[in-house]
Amino acid sequence: MEVEDWSINQILEKTNLTREQIEEKLKKKLEEFPALTREAAIRAVAADSGVILIRRDYKVSDIKEEINHLNLRCSIIRKFEAREVNLRGGRSKILNLIVGDETGQIRVVVWDTNKIAELESSFNEGDEILIINAYSKFSSFSSNFEVNIGKNTLLKMIERRGQAAKEGDNYSRISQINEENKVYRVRGFITRLFTNNTFIVRCRICGKRVDDKCDVHGDKALSKTLMISAVIDDGLSNMKVVFFDRVAEKLLSLSKEGDLRARLNDISFGIYQVEIEAVAKSFNGVLSLTVKDVRPVDYSL
Ligand SMILES: [Zn+2]
Repeated sequence: MEVEDWSINQILEKTNLTREQIEEKLKKKLEEFPALTREAAIRAVAADSGVILIRRDYKVSDIKEEINHLNLRCSIIRKFEAREVNLRGGRSKILNLIVGDETGQIRVVVWDTNKIAELESSFNEGDEILIINAYSKFSSFSSNFEVNIGKNTLLKMIERRGQAAKEGDNYSRISQINEENKVYRVRGFITRLFTNNTFIVRCRICGKRVDDKCDVHGDKALSKTLMISAVIDDGLSNMKVVFFDRVAEKLLSLSKEGDLRARLNDISFGIYQVEIEAVAKSFNGVLSLTVKDVRPVDYSL
């Protein structure tokens, strides 16, 4: 909601005036005091009608001006590592967040050392929070308004949805995967599942992959292996991944008995998030991942 809409709605809510009457009063006010901005005129009309316009709760899309006291209910989309910057007063630590609500996303800059420590230890990406008494400033660096968190700001957890990064957790970006036979840990969404060849058949004697029988050994020693090919996407890039046997079953969370096709259909595109540990393998010069272990990521925990 625009600031102006909010102000006019406040007058509509708290007086018997109609929108037309408010516009009429505004017109008169501006004729009387031509130097007033429309916003100041709205404030004056409100005050004439006994309404004091003090606004605290904002949506991201409303933060298009410098606001001294604002509250924002939002989710933490990204939490960056704190870093040191050079300021006029010397070196100082800052931490940046990207937060969002249903109206958009905005950068949050945290200046206060205690608030940085609090965010580092107790708040994670995915958490829904309430930021109380922050202020907004225009950043010439990003050419956008940013929310600033200082020592008088309060942070309140609304709903803990994020997962703390565990000590020693190191995830690779898919774009960084470049070394054959190296083990990588990746977190991403399964965005495609190839349900055609879900089994591969081998001849146990020579180890060759066959269709229905081995040219040399016939069909006496065939073994069937569950194989699921998929695409994993970490939001920046994607890569083919292959799950075999036990790992494929783990992906599908197959219990003792379970209909594979049905399970495959259950895993909807792009909403199934997993962490995998996988070896990069090269096929015809293209790297793909052979998964060693897979774990679903559940943000609802
Ligand atoms: Zn054979």
